Amino acid sequence: MTLVERAAHLRVAGAPIDVRGDAIGCAERTGVLPRIREQRIRMAEHGVFVHADGSVAARLPVEEMSDSGDAIEIAREDLVRTLAAALPASADLVLGDSVDALADDGDGVDVHFVSGRSERFDLVVGADGLHSVTRRPAFGPERDYLRHLGLYVALTDLPAEARADRTNPLYNCPGHLASIARYKDGAFGVFLVRSGLLDHDHRDLDAQKKILLDAFAGHTEWKIPQLLDAVRADPEFCFDSVGQIHMPTWSRGRVALVGDAAHCAALLSGRGTSLALSGAHFPAEELDDAGGDHTMAFERYERRQRPYVEFAQNSVTDGGELIVPST
Ligand SMILES: Cc1cc2nc3c(=O)[nH]c(=O)nc-3n(C[C@H](O)[C@H](O)[C@H](O)COP(=O)(O)OP(=O)(O)OC[C@H]3O[C@@H](n4cnc5c(N)ncnc54)[C@H](O)[C@@H]3O)c2cc1C
Repeated sequence: MTLVERAAHLRVAGAPIDVRGDAIGCAERTGVLPRIREQRIRMAEHGVFVHADGSVAARLPVEEMSDSGDAIEIAREDLVRTLAAALPASADLVLGDSVDALADDGDGVDVHFVSGRSERFDLVVGADGLHSVTRRPAFGPERDYLRHLGLYVALTDLPAEARADRTNPLYNCPGHLASIARYKDGAFGVFLVRSGLLDHDHRDLDAQKKILLDAFAGHTEWKIPQLLDAVRADPEFCFDSVGQIHMPTWSRGRVALVGDAAHCAALLSGRGTSLALSGAHFPAEELDDAGGDHTMAFERYERRQRPYVEFAQNSVTDGGELIVPST
């Protein structure tokens, strides 16, 4: 098995996430559940909506928002390191490379990599997120499957806010959310803004910062000016559209997609990580059961995974109005 990651290192940055539902059973069968439980954090529980002067308006009603009591909140870096540590010794992890072209001739898949090397594989599984490049050669362009949800999300590191206090404040003005999320010994800012789909360069950090800075231009309430200063200074600033991927099928021949690449439910679902975990585990189990018959295995994977994906994707609309009210 060869794993290919575009980044030059394991990507551990990002917001804490929840492991819930089917993913808990998958984590148990993979043997990583005890380690996930040991590293549990409680960030969302400390969420409070604040007024412009910083005083508390309301507590985040976590119990009402969550429709499953089994969720385990964990820092993304801890989950990534736990999964990486569980890789079998036979797995070959290639960092700093990416799929450039694929050719499936029915007996195997010839993969050409951006680095220039080529290799033939029995199966290719694209697990490369919302903007998957593995999806393109086998299934066509992203625009055929993307459903933009009218929001953009941005994350920025906030070294000055680490450990300042235990609450995680969320400040809203119509169409905008600015918030501070603290966990363990770090803190980061999360922004959401309502916007139609923008035509921007995904690799141009300054252009992405400008979109966010312009969206909050003139806002001097609460801690917005300090948060925007942190955005200006952050070399790891992260910005993306909030959208879902809807595909009629997640496999074609010897190429399959899992996780956000196949069925991104968007961050508002709170289920993307769990769907990515079960979406990776089910095909592996089905390939074992089908004795390597990938056609049967990929069909069974879709049958098991799709109901949970549809539930997660359909749950998103209400969350947007709660977290980023439009009025
Ligand atoms: C702010 C925010 C908050 C969220 N909160 C939650 C939450 O509370 N609960 C939850 O369950 N989910 C949450 N999510 C969603 C969750 O992060 C995703 O659904 C989940 O990470 C999807 O996993 P994935 O492995 O499919 O894709 P990703 O996590 O996007 O991983 C894709 C990997 O592929 C690599 N890659 C990308 N392109 C290539 C390429 N061309 N070649 C090789 N490698 C490549 C990337 O570097 C990355 O390591 C949140 C998302 C955001 C942005």
